[in-house]
Amino acid sequence: MTARLIDGKAVAAELRRSIAARVATLDFRPGLRVVRVGEDPASGVYVRNKDKAAQEVGFDSATLHLPATTTEAELLAVVARLNADPAVDGILVQLPLPPQIRADRVISAVLPEKDVDGFHPLNAGLLASGQPGLVPCTPKGAMHLLRAAGASLPGARAVVLGRSNIVGRPMAQLLLAADCTVTIVHSRTRDLPAECRRAEILIAAVGRPEMVRGDWVTEGATVIDVGINRLPDGRLVGDVDFAGASMRAEAITPVPGGVGPMTIACLLENTLEAALARRGAAP
Ligand code: NAP
Repeated sequence: MTARLIDGKAVAAELRRSIAARVATLDFRPGLRVVRVGEDPASGVYVRNKDKAAQEVGFDSATLHLPATTTEAELLAVVARLNADPAVDGILVQLPLPPQIRADRVISAVLPEKDVDGFHPLNAGLLASGQPGLVPCTPKGAMHLLRAAGASLPGARAVVLGRSNIVGRPMAQLLLAADCTVTIVHSRTRDLPAECRRAEILIAAVGRPEMVRGDWVTEGATVIDVGINRLPDGRLVGDVDFAGASMRAEAITPVPGGVGPMTIACLLENTLEAALARRGAAP
């Protein structure tokens, strides 16, 4: 079998188009503020891309760039100001933060209804208890891709590789909410290949280049590769051996061009949802 490619670029472009169309019907512009602290070069690229995408769909978007020497108290004061600003619907503090700032303190300081990253413990709790809230962008994007690929979710055996708060855990919750039978595997799992081979839906979010080998993938599985890894030769690869897995999967996301483009599109979707919810409007 040669797998069908799940085209994240196309699905993300369609989602951005539908968000722009909805924004054009509103009598206000959803407001997004991205806060960047320090000079991490990768963060610089991410923040620019987020700002550009937000402008393109018609949001009132701006980036606040603070120096690397910013104290935790100073950053918390910026977050408090944005929390109180009625023109701001979504606040995103770009991670990682410099070592003098505790990320968990900052994440918990963002108003849950403006937490468009979906990392606030209240939003994590809402997701875990099956209630509506803001959902982390990357797993939300992966769910869009599964649906776009036509994956049949109710009752499906889904395996999530990785248990981070940003990807693995919320991914597992979303699959559970979609009635999958979910297994989470991680660095202490005894037989990783055997667990993965049981998966009809396999989500890889480990941050280890091409760790998931072709023979870990069962015939006919749908594979979502969240990993983004830069090899010493400059190539960008996922957490899945794409060539090997493509021989057995029914559908698979490429890297790049799979989950990556969905993350920003879902940030826009979360910001629109937050803006509508704050004004009591229907999504
Ligand atoms: P993370 O916080 O480092 O978590 C990695 C998870 O993988 C952990 O739960 C860890 O297990 C598990 N793991 C690591 N090595 C393993 C091994 N050898 N065997 C089994 N499990 C192992 O990473 P993350 O933030 O979730 O990100 C995961 C990947 O997704 C990275 O490549 C990242 O770049 C990518 N990512 C992509 C996007 C996007 O927009 N596409 C967004 C976010 C992240 P333990 O918990 O046991 O340590």
